[in-house]
Order: sequence, then structure tokens, then C-alpha cells
Amino acid sequence: MDAHDDVRTAPRALATEAVHAGRDDLARQGLHAPPIDLSTTYPSYDSRGEAARIDAFAATGAEPDGPPVYGRLGNPTVARFETALARLEGTEAAVAFASGMAALSAVLLVRGSMGLRHVVAVRPLYGCSDHLLTAGLLGSEVTWTDPAGVADALRPDTGLVLVESPANPTLAEVDLRAVAHACGSVPLLVDNTFATPVLQRPAEQGARLVLHSATKYLGGHGDVLAGVVACDEEFAGRLRQVRFATGGVLHPLAGYLLLRGLSTLPVRVRAASATAAELARRLTADPRVARVHYPRIGGAMVAFEVHGDPHEVIAGVRLITPAVSLGSVDTLIQHPASISHRIVDAEDRRGAGVGDRLLRMSVGLEDVDDLWSDLDQALKRCETGAGNGATGHRAPAPAH
Ligand SMILES: *Cc1c(COP(=O)(O)O)cnc(C)c1O
Repeated sequence: MDAHDDVRTAPRALATEAVHAGRDDLARQGLHAPPIDLSTTYPSYDSRGEAARIDAFAATGAEPDGPPVYGRLGNPTVARFETALARLEGTEAAVAFASGMAALSAVLLVRGSMGLRHVVAVRPLYGCSDHLLTAGLLGSEVTWTDPAGVADALRPDTGLVLVESPANPTLAEVDLRAVAHACGSVPLLVDNTFATPVLQRPAEQGARLVLHSATKYLGGHGDVLAGVVACDEEFAGRLRQVRFATGGVLHPLAGYLLLRGLSTLPVRVRAASATAAELARRLTADPRVARVHYPRIGGAMVAFEVHGDPHEVIAGVRLITPAVSLGSVDTLIQHPASISHRIVDAEDRRGAGVGDRLLRMSVGLEDVDDLWSDLDQALKRCETGAGNGATGHRAPAPAH
């Protein structure tokens, strides 16, 4: 170990890790920006050596030593993002995928391939995660319960317990330490997409697996689709093997953009959270709003229920972008019952607290007063339509 390595292993604060993790080797190489390695294959005159590396990978799923072999086995640019995210979540490793859903699928395949196909899950979850489990698309079988019911729902073939906190879209919070305790030896997966490691590090509270739709805050600019699982090295090996066999890899350009996104993650999340908390306060005081959901741990997501027609708010925003997804630098608003959670059966959706008048807003980095005046004028439209009901007749949006 040389002097450089000593420095690298010293504990560092999250804000420091965000801009340095995954980049520790660059200065010694005379580089500042990380290189993007777009190779799908890697020439080698040593096929004996390659055979040994493939054998080692098949045995443990450990990142192959020496030069890379093929893009589906691993990519150096993507590996930088994985290293950085693991550092931020405080785990040994992280494994990146083409999307959040590809990441969740890989986790289910790892456990299912071990004969542990039963999943215990707490609603609400992101709509497509709910759908993947409810439909049993990957051969899993789900038991839905509340956090207090987790221990009783476990079976000998339970391979996974799955929770989101704060949950999409109601921002309901789960006591992660208590649920981790209830899981015993069954791995707890926490979807940490909404909180990000800036606000919450589930691994410190007993979660074995921390999942992100990196499409959201980690990328942060609405231009990358990606997923990642932060976990211990043993589970990471299995995830890499599934990724190799099923092919849900992340593109190296996406890996580069995610690494760049991480460097501003702490400032973005803190700034947007401060604005979101203020908007939540103003919405709470507004008579046109029936209920506001804002988590105790804070964050940049606000959900609220209107007395009038929520479709009118969506049709009425001008500065705020009416779009699904979240975690971008600009503010987005959507109607979960119509979009993000449309694929969930209406009864299940309402049972999980996702009402027909609920709107979900992802607060960005705009000025708080500009956001408020846009919300205020959109709420005025909804006020005019009050009493029509969430599914009532609505006028077409004016041209803009
Ligand atoms: C968006 C989202 C997902 C799915 O991620 P994709 O990148 O869209 O595949 C999973 N969980 C949560 C909480 C999400 O918001």
C-alpha cells in the first residue's frame, strides 16, 4: 500500500464521497474527467487467462481481475458508478442495471433460482414493482402485509422482504430497523429511490439490499434510465451472474452520466428538499387542498389531495412539467391513479392509500415563489371544477 492508498481508505463525509468516490485513480493517471470505455469486447492473446477469469466469475460472480473480457461481464465506466454508489450507501458493493425494474428483476431471479420464490411486500410500492410481484411474471408469489405483519407472513420459502420508504406515491414511511429485525435471516430489500443516501442509508438500519431507480435522483437530470442494487459482496456476485446471463446491463454512457449525477446529489437533494418543505407548508394552509403528505425525514417529494378535480391541476400547470418520473432538476407533477400506479388494480391501489384525488409532485431546483405561483394558478382551475369529482367531466386544456 502506498501513500495514495492510505488517503483513499480514510473515512470521508458523504459530500466528499459524492465528488471523489469512483475517481480515486484518476489524478495518478493524469486525468480529471473519468474516461468512457465503450468497448463491447476486449482483445487478449492469453485465452488461458481469459478461461481462468471466466471460471472465477462463474464460481463467485466476483468482478473479474485483470483486463475486462466482454461488456456483459462488466464495464470499467459502469464500475466507477457502482463503486461510488456503494460508498454513498455504505455497502461493500453495488451492481448496476439497465433500469430500476431490471435491478428488481435480477434480485427476484437470484432468490427464485435458489428455490426461495415467496416474497413478502408492503404496499404501496412503485406501480410497476407492485405489478411485477402481483402478476408473478418471474415466477414469484407475493404476500402483501403491513410492516407489523412481516414476521407472521414469513414462510420457509420466503426469499425476500420488500419495502419502500418513503413510499411511492404516498410518501408513507416504514420503520426500517423494526422491519429488518422482523425479517430475521430473510434479506430485506429497501427501495431507497425517494430518500437517496443523502437522507437515509438503509444498510445501516439492517437492510441487506438497497435498490434505486437511478433514473430518478442519482441521474438527476431526466436523461438516463438506470437501476442499481447496493449490497454485500456475496449477494453482488449473484447479481452479476444473473446480469451476465440475462443481459440487463447498463450502457457505459449512462454509467458516466450517473457518476456525474452523483457528484451533485447532496446539493441537489438538500436544495430541492428545502423548497419541497416550504411548498408542503403552503399547501397545508391552502383551503383547496384536502391533505398533504410530506415525510418526516424530508425530501424533495410532496403528495397532496385536492378537493376538486386533480386532472385540472395537471392540465393547468405551466412552469411545472406535467410528467411521470421524478428526481430531475425541474419540477414534475403527475396523477398516480392515471399514470405511475395505473397498472395496479384500482381496489388494491385505493387500499394502499393511493386515492383518485392524489397528486404527486417531484420538486426541482426552481425558485420557490415561482413554483408556488404556478401551483396557485393551477389550483384555481381545480377550484372552479370543485364538486365535479375526480372522474367528472373536464374541459380540454387551453393551447399553450
Ligand atoms: C421509477 C421507480 C422504479 C422503477 O425504476 P425504472 O428505472 O423506471 O425501471 C422503482 N422504484 C421506485 C420507487 C421508482 O420510483
